[in-house]
Parts: sequence; structure tokens; C-alpha cells
Amino acid sequence: MKYIIVTGGVMSGLGKGITAASIGRILKNKGFNVTAIKIDPYINIDAGTMSPYQHGEVFVLKDGGEVDLDLGNYERFLDIELTREHNITTGQVYQTVIEKERRGDYLGKTVQIIPHITNEIKERIRRVSKKSGAEICIIEVGGTVGDIESMPFLEAVRQMHREEKEEDLIFVHVTLVPLDTQGEQKTKPTQHSVKELKSLGLQPDVIVARCKEPVLPDTKSKIALFCDVPAGAVVSAHDASDIYYVPTLMEKEGLSDYLMQKLKLTEKEISHEWEILMKKMASIDREIRIAVVGKYAHLGDSYISINEALKHAGIECGCRVKAEWLDAEEFEKNPSDIDRLCKYSGILVPGGFGVRGTEGKILAIKFARENNIPYLGLCLGMQLAVIEFARNILGLKDANSSELAKTGNPVIDILPEQENVRNMGGTMRLGNCEAILVEGSLACKLYGSTTLIERHRHRYEVNPKYIKQIEAKGMKFTGKNDHRMEIAEIPEHKFFFSSQFHPEFKSRPGRPSPPFLAFVRAALQ
Ligand code: GLN
Repeated sequence: MKYIIVTGGVMSGLGKGITAASIGRILKNKGFNVTAIKIDPYINIDAGTMSPYQHGEVFVLKDGGEVDLDLGNYERFLDIELTREHNITTGQVYQTVIEKERRGDYLGKTVQIIPHITNEIKERIRRVSKKSGAEICIIEVGGTVGDIESMPFLEAVRQMHREEKEEDLIFVHVTLVPLDTQGEQKTKPTQHSVKELKSLGLQPDVIVARCKEPVLPDTKSKIALFCDVPAGAVVSAHDASDIYYVPTLMEKEGLSDYLMQKLKLTEKEISHEWEILMKKMASIDREIRIAVVGKYAHLGDSYISINEALKHAGIECGCRVKAEWLDAEEFEKNPSDIDRLCKYSGILVPGGFGVRGTEGKILAIKFARENNIPYLGLCLGMQLAVIEFARNILGLKDANSSELAKTGNPVIDILPEQENVRNMGGTMRLGNCEAILVEGSLACKLYGSTTLIERHRHRYEVNPKYIKQIEAKGMKFTGKNDHRMEIAEIPEHKFFFSSQFHPEFKSRPGRPSPPFLAFVRAALQ
């Protein structure tokens, strides 16, 4: 197994995740089987309970793992499916060590960060990478070098470096090269951050310098000299117009050759898939505008997977999809503003929790339905579509979800067998579940099959008591898992498709999610 450890310096938000994913991609392009692990030094066991405000999107894996959004980048760049074990947090590590201690596994020893915590970290990294069956594992250490939380992880990878063969483990450090007021590229922050890294016993093999513009040869030489790496090991990672161009940019910098030489790897079967896709992306000359009516409208990071899924569908259709995020609460304050939605080629309501903004989203769905504008509803976006339909077509004025209000008509509710969930709080239906599709339906056409498997993250369901009534009036449930409704569509509408699952998590560049693709196609017409 070859390990590539990616650390970050100077500041957070440098795009370390994209760098790690891109490194993986350029090696995949050389024919290697690559996997990735994200280390998050926070105490949380997983990202499930974290606010998208603070931490961006919670990405959902096939096994139901609720993880850091970087795992979404790995899945998209590497075209793989990961499991929850690929996101290691401080909380998980300590939990295991404390459980072992309580069981008496440490035979009366004093349990310490070194060696007990570090051993647990190393054991996890090795186990997960081996289990994946990959040849190369990229391990991204979250946070910035020098953070108190990441110390045990950096110490663990330092030990691994000593234990593994020299050609089996290398360090890539991602830093920032800022421009001063004269526009000169400054290397001091990089020097300081490498110094910090070295003080922990880690010597970088490669330095990836993030910069607004291409890092100049002189700047590279200076970094090489001060940080004690060969000049060829300093890579310019300048801003790209799209994250998917980053692997190509790194390839041009000679990074894959350098990595292969360091890791003593000889290239296998070269794949041009990514290159072809990038050419397709670069040749796009059309644009459509989609309104995404959500809650965290000002935070792009909260819905990365949706943006990416729209992009994937756009590339396939040869158009740029400009997703404009509109704050649902604004429509609640000024309902007449809803007319602004007529400027858009499609309307999307994403998933969400809690009552805030839901009435605004319902107004948007009504607008899409009445004006025959393509509509894509995801999870909460399907539940609200059912509520809107029940209110305005069935005339159940108080129809609602029992998550959002106390109502006599809970068209969205917790199913009876899950009644205990109401009390326990924390249990959700997570990860892959199958849906059986109604033959001849839009769903069936989109997926080209009578079944599908998609990822879920929700508690509430369409209330079976209302299904007959709703279907009689023209909204059809065309995807089902037993008595759970998975898809609601309106066949009479130009394009009205909503799902209880989250198709965005399985969308990939070059392999767009079927509902997204059909939505963008409908919007283009
Ligand atoms: N809040 C809704 C539920 O729990 C929808 C969840 C979501 O959109 N992810 O069922």
C-alpha cells in the first residue's frame, strides 16, 4: 500500500480537499486504484449533527455515514463509493480507546496519547486503506498544521513514515503564496508553515502552493531552497475557473510523474476519460439559470453536491447551469416577489430540516406547478411538494408535515412503526435504499430500470392515509419502498419530479444523476 499524506498550512479553506482529490485523480488517470481517507480532528463522532452553517454540507455515503463534504469530492473526482470508516475523527478514536480501556484491554497500563491514541489512528488508517482494495491511499489531515487538535494525527503519520518503506509513504503539504500590495508573490508564510511541520518531525516531499496566479519559477526556487525540497517538488496550484480543471493543472506541473518516481510506481493503463470530459466542459457556450430556493442561500458550501450534480448534468447537455440560490424566507416576507421566479428555466427545492423558510419554499413549488416550470424536489423538496398539492389541489388547507407544525392533516408524518423515533430524536433513515418504480412512469424512464438505489437522509414520510386521495388528483407516487413513498411526480406537468432520496450524492462528472440530467434537459427546452 502506498500512502500520500496531505497536510495544510498557513490557513484553512485553501482547497486542501480539492488538492487531495486531484492528486488522487491524476494517479487514477495513470491506471492506479486510488482511495482516500479524511481525518477530521474535531471531537464529534461524525458530521451528522453539525450545522451546515458552520461546516458546509453533510455528505451521505452509501452505508449511511454522515461525513465531511471532502468525501463527496473524493467520490466525485475518483468515481468511487466510500464508507463511513473513511472519515476518521478524534471522537471516534477516543471512543474506541476508552471502550478498550473499560474492557481492560490495556492490562493496567496508563493509557496515553502516545502510544495508545496514535496506535489506534495508525491501525484505522491501515485497516481502512487495506480493506478498500486500492493501491494508493490519499490521507487528508484536516485543519492546519499547528492546531492543537491535529497533533496526535500528525504524530501518528510521523510514526507511520518511520515504519513504512521510504517509497511507500510521502507527505504533500499545501500552503498559500499570497501577493503583496505590489503584486509580488510571497513565500514567507510557506516557510513558516514548513518550519512548523518540521518541528513535528515531518519533512514534506511535495509542496503545493496555492496562489491567485501561477507561481513563478523564482518563487518556486525560493520555496525549494528554504523548505529543503527539490525545485521539481514545488507545484503551482493557482486558481482555476472550475475545480475539475485542477487535476489537469497539476498534471501539467509534472506532479504525477514526480509522485510516481517518489513512490517507485510505473504507470499502468493511461485513461483519457478526464481529459475528454474537461474538453467537453471547456467548449460549453450556452447557459441556463436555475432557481434553488433554500435556507442557507448565502452559503454555497452547504449544498455542494447539488451544485456539482447540476454541473454534471450541464456538461452532458453542453450548457452551463447557473444555480442562483434564493432565500426562501424572503418569499415569506414578500410573497409577491415569487413572480421573480418566472425568469428561471427551472426551480429546485433542496433538502432541509426545521420549519424556517418552508412556507416560502411551498410558494415556490406552487409557482412551478402552476406555471409549468420544470421542478426538481429533493427530500424536503418532495415533502413540501406533497403538502403544496394537498393544500391547493385537495383543499386540505392545514396540510403539513408533523415535523413542521401541529396539524389535523399530517400528509407528511412519522410512520407508526417508527413512533419511537419521535421520542428518541436521533434516528434517521440513512444511506442506500431501494425503490421499486412504476412501469411507464417518468421515474422509470429516467433510470432506464424498474428499480433504483439511492441515498437517504430523513425521518418523515408521506402519510399512507393520503396516498389514494393525492393520486386521484394527479400527483403519482412512482417509486416505492414497501409503504414508503420514494418519488412523487405530476405526469401532466412539463417536468415535475421529486424524490424522498438525495440523488445528488451519486452524481459524478461524466455520469450525471438521472433526475438532474432530465431536469436540466427539461429546463433547456
Ligand atoms: N426534514 C425532513 C425529514 O426529516 C427532510 C430531510 C431532508 O430533506 N434531508 O424527513
